[in-house]
Amino acid sequence: MLRVNDNFSLIPQSYLFSEIAKRVSDFQRANPEARIIRMGIGDVSRPLCPAAVEALHRAADHQADPATFHGYGPEQGYEFLRNAIARSDYHDRGIDITPDEIFISDGAKSDLGNIGDLFSTDCRVAVTDPVYPVYVDTNAMAGRAGRPDSASGSWDRIIYLPSTAENDFVPALPLQRPDIIYLCYPNNPTGTVLTRPQLAQWVEYALANSALILFDSAYESYITTPGIPHSIYEIEGARRCAIEFRSFSKTAGFTGMRLGYTVVPRELTGLTSDGTQVSIHQMWLRRQTTKFNGASYVVQRAAEALFTPEGKRQVAETIRYYMANASLLRQKLTEAGLKVYGGIDAPYLWVKTPDGYSSWEFFDILLSKYHIVVTPGAGFGPAGEGYVRLTAFSSAEATAAAASRLAEAKY
Ligand code: PLP
Repeated sequence: MLRVNDNFSLIPQSYLFSEIAKRVSDFQRANPEARIIRMGIGDVSRPLCPAAVEALHRAADHQADPATFHGYGPEQGYEFLRNAIARSDYHDRGIDITPDEIFISDGAKSDLGNIGDLFSTDCRVAVTDPVYPVYVDTNAMAGRAGRPDSASGSWDRIIYLPSTAENDFVPALPLQRPDIIYLCYPNNPTGTVLTRPQLAQWVEYALANSALILFDSAYESYITTPGIPHSIYEIEGARRCAIEFRSFSKTAGFTGMRLGYTVVPRELTGLTSDGTQVSIHQMWLRRQTTKFNGASYVVQRAAEALFTPEGKRQVAETIRYYMANASLLRQKLTEAGLKVYGGIDAPYLWVKTPDGYSSWEFFDILLSKYHIVVTPGAGFGPAGEGYVRLTAFSSAEATAAAASRLAEAKY
């Protein structure tokens, strides 16, 4: 018989969002008249901006003409897009990243999962807790997570760094040395950020301990507070210890288009088992050119249009729209007596459950009494227990309706 990867059998079958979908559909079946508002899943509601749509049309015309048709593109992405990213997201902000250090992909989730191909299964991984589940599950699939504890949901080889109200959502540096550290700021799910000195501590730690930081900044464009770093490369020394992941999904409504990019600086190195020093950039290039055939030409043209003055203005308008939702939710939830975190520099609000309810208990209350779907914090890791996550990605109308239901609630 075919032998399979045993690690898959260790991963709990009930994926968070399937369990939520099941509870919501059971409730809707029993209460067909209930108008349910979904503030749970992190998908966006606004369509693509006009600049991206026009570029898509133009690119579709290119594909219809033998003179401008594009077949297989460069695996690393088209130069026109890598140049636009290097200029707008880095150079114009005073950050030293060159186009050849940028790898375009079909989204940050793929890259965050695929990057594990480069590292030994012996590597110890640290994650902040609660955490975007992809970091943990992809390491579990690769055999780096050890064994799961069914009661707590944690893995015995993963180093968890709690990030809760008790430490102001600033996780302490690990007591045990990890090889790989996942950081996500602005954070999903807590919606919190790190200041420059706080992020600098992590860079300093990684350099001192020869650890690699995998920095997920999928939500950087939601930062509103001046001085909060948008990129880890704003910190001195980060080119020697960090890979950065970005996504067009939440910035420009590309969740269905699929596009992201990963920055791998040339300075990054690792060791083979015989002690030879190798370039992480070269390894990622080799990995991508072997297993990935490049993101779609038309989608890359649409992304290029986001960097034009029109595109930038339109993207900023969409972000303002979602952040207006976030601040309305923050205000109404706070007025209702709840303790609310995030929602200032991120499209997520992280809400402490009242009266000692567990996160799934509070999920059920919000669904059954107020017909609002949230995400139970426990689904993001042990330290997510006692919280729920709301997103600001719904329409303004749905958000206003949810906010007024929540404002009336007495907990
Ligand atoms: N990183 C974080 C923290 C996310 O929350 C998400 C999506 O929800 C992603 C990455 C995935 O982004 P993409 O749509 O580019 O795969």
